[in-house]
Amino acid sequence: MLRTLNLGKDLEKAVSSGHPWVYRDSLPRHSATTGEWLRVEAGKASAYGLYDEEGAIAVRIFSSEGLPDKRWFAERVEEALELRSDLIGSGTDAYRLVYGEGDGLPGVVVDRYGRYAVAKAYSPGVRSILSPIVKALASAIDLRGVSERSAAGLEPLYGQLPPPELTVEENGLRLLANLYEGQKTGLFLDQRDNRATVRGFAGGRSVLNLFSYNGGFSVSALAGGATSVVSVDMSEPALEDARRTVRLNGFDQARHETVTADVFEYLASGSTDRYGLVVCDPPSLAHAKRSRHAALRAYRKLNRGAFSRVEPGGLLATSSCTAQVSPEEFRRVVAEAAAEAGLRAQIVHEAGQPLDHPVPAHFPEGRYLKFLVLRVLEPA
Ligand code: SAH
Repeated sequence: MLRTLNLGKDLEKAVSSGHPWVYRDSLPRHSATTGEWLRVEAGKASAYGLYDEEGAIAVRIFSSEGLPDKRWFAERVEEALELRSDLIGSGTDAYRLVYGEGDGLPGVVVDRYGRYAVAKAYSPGVRSILSPIVKALASAIDLRGVSERSAAGLEPLYGQLPPPELTVEENGLRLLANLYEGQKTGLFLDQRDNRATVRGFAGGRSVLNLFSYNGGFSVSALAGGATSVVSVDMSEPALEDARRTVRLNGFDQARHETVTADVFEYLASGSTDRYGLVVCDPPSLAHAKRSRHAALRAYRKLNRGAFSRVEPGGLLATSSCTAQVSPEEFRRVVAEAAAEAGLRAQIVHEAGQPLDHPVPAHFPEGRYLKFLVLRVLEPA
């Protein structure tokens, strides 16, 4: 028998709008176990979800209509693929196939890297749905294998494990992806459109790419006609891949330099070198233990340093992937950073997540990526 938990009338609106999460402190007493399907009720609204014993999110909601079956999962996968149909067969073969809450499949992410895909379950409770999702994907697109990435490494869910390293394509550029050890599932796929934007702005400019990882923004800038690119990251293996990626795309290595350094220290080092375009794409600066306030301070400091490396008339392309920082707050701290650096700045471009990272209209929490391009001017 399916267990029903009554959440009380206060949550009626959230449940009827299709919000995908129920927090643990909204649940009545119960004895549900991890991975159990259950029904939640709030006033006149009801929905079906999967339970987790650990974590702040106790229930991930999938449907208001009934218990999801194989066909239901196949329909969600079909909707997800439909949204990405323009990417399929374009100059891009690495993108997010399924974006959890964004695609109505909370807790599950599947990324495509050419003929291979990597799936990730964000809680033990949702692991059981990997199988119907992967089956639906494998029957809809031509994949050699889908693997699950967990702390233990990659486990095959369908077909073959990927080779240790893959070369994928993004807007006609080649990128290296290590699905076993790379950060995220291999690449930061969410910055694809923003890398293309940087390519468009880079012509004739010297570029400083802060937090370069394996060089996605660096090769995009070179493809856009940057005169030189400096990639800075604390990870030497990532920079080694950045150098290889520059070669792989046939660019003159003399146009690319790498610096292994902590970006905060690098910016504080007192160098007076200025660039026509500075890219700044840090990892999330908010941690569970760190307050949102501390994250805002870190963004302000970082962007102040980044602004100070832009030549007059140059550009700063700056990003934040911290969900706790709203687009308004990010704009505000970036403006404060410009003021502290004694510069004027104009926003000339603003963006968020690409199409393969959709945000449900009733779930603004799903919007995490912010991206601003600013022109930097001397005080008038
Ligand atoms: N811009 C990249 C993604 C950046 S991810 C892309 O488009 O693919 C963040 C990167 O910052 C990682 O490569 C990580 O190694 C690096 N990093 C994290 N903290 C750092 C620090 N304090 N100094 C320098 N690099 C750092």
